[in-house]
Amino acid sequence: MAKVLCVLYDDPVDGYPKTYARDDLPKIDHYPGGQTTPTPQGIDFTPGHLLGSVSGELGLRSYLESQGHTLVVTSDKDREGSVFDQELVDADIVISQPFWPAYLTAERIAKAENLKLAITAGIGSDHVDLDAAIAKGITVAEVTYCNSISVAEHVVMMTLSLVRNYLPSYKWVLDGGWNIADCVSRSYDLEGMQVGTVAAGRIGLAVLRRLAPFDVGLHYTDRHRLPESVEQELGLTWHESAAAMVPHCDVVTINAPLHPETEGLFGDELIATMKRGAYLINTARAKIADRDAIDRALRSGQLAGYAGDVWYPQPAPADHPWRTMPHHGMTPHISGSSLSAQARYAAGTREILENFFAGTPQRDEYLIVDKGALAGVGAHSYSVKS
Ligand code: NDP
Repeated sequence: MAKVLCVLYDDPVDGYPKTYARDDLPKIDHYPGGQTTPTPQGIDFTPGHLLGSVSGELGLRSYLESQGHTLVVTSDKDREGSVFDQELVDADIVISQPFWPAYLTAERIAKAENLKLAITAGIGSDHVDLDAAIAKGITVAEVTYCNSISVAEHVVMMTLSLVRNYLPSYKWVLDGGWNIADCVSRSYDLEGMQVGTVAAGRIGLAVLRRLAPFDVGLHYTDRHRLPESVEQELGLTWHESAAAMVPHCDVVTINAPLHPETEGLFGDELIATMKRGAYLINTARAKIADRDAIDRALRSGQLAGYAGDVWYPQPAPADHPWRTMPHHGMTPHISGSSLSAQARYAAGTREILENFFAGTPQRDEYLIVDKGALAGVGAHSYSVKS
């Protein structure tokens, strides 16, 4: 019987919700391109309920306990001697979400003698040291596509929020003001701007599709070029690198995974080549941007705005400069954890667990590392140090 260690974010400050704003979720059974949404044999939760917090337990407890497994759920993951560290030593399976990542470093993996499976309930497994997982034969799996559209919607929201100066204008309302000039002196139309994405995978392409009706020029860079038909349909301009693309863009959105090729990509040097007053939206991973270079660029006016939901570390400390830098539109890491997304990745986590216990193969699109090597979608999207 397995011990499953699940690291989830804390419940709301007022306690686990008793009611919800809406009664149901739209039924979605396919993603763009045809991949099916998760297909577990069953679920024991109500779609639309809060599943990603400690009391939500990703809806897994009754399923796991009915099979004789042990489920330990905690939010305590970072401090010295955390519950996560204590329970990890004999855990068979670790589950966490990128929003509240259980950092599976090489040191932790070395101590986790029984660990066989690390599941990301979401997308993005860079909180797991993939080299160490490969060396130890640990399978790493994530619920590919579960929240790609959720993130793309967040990118569109943040793009419009920055360009139109929404957040400062909203604040004038809260403060009792009617300061139109203060609101509009940084407000523009998106129409006619040039928008570029670093990576046009599931999220990047969904962002391009959603922004096309705004009558903007669309640009992208990616390791692999999109089909010509898609380029033509959306009027895309392809660039061979981020460095080649960003000087042409008024808005840049980052939608690439964090790996050695992308870490620190948006530093002083690259940002200096962007148009003065460009906007940068990063919902991919914080470390793709240099923390202090972003702060400097906002203060100097080189960037007119920065928004996103990814930080390092997570949770971000109270004195993280991105909380107080000017002209930002940051949220905590929430874009991929809407109630809609939670229902999908909780079901996907259950599907991965069912396959693991039954010894049946995982979907290729869920695998990042398997049998001592990058595998499935991981072999396509990630690279390792060695
Ligand atoms: P995909 O795997 O569908 O797309 C990633 C794309 O990035 C691929 O097209 C890949 O290229 C491309 N890529 C990889 N390296 C580079 C590079 N050096 N330069 C340019 N392009 C590159 O992933 P998703 O779109 O679903 O997700 C993207 C990332 O977004 C995730 O890795 C994750 O970090 C983040 N994310 C954030 C969430 C949030 O809540 N904020 C939620 C979900 C994901 P190719 O395949 O052509 O080789």
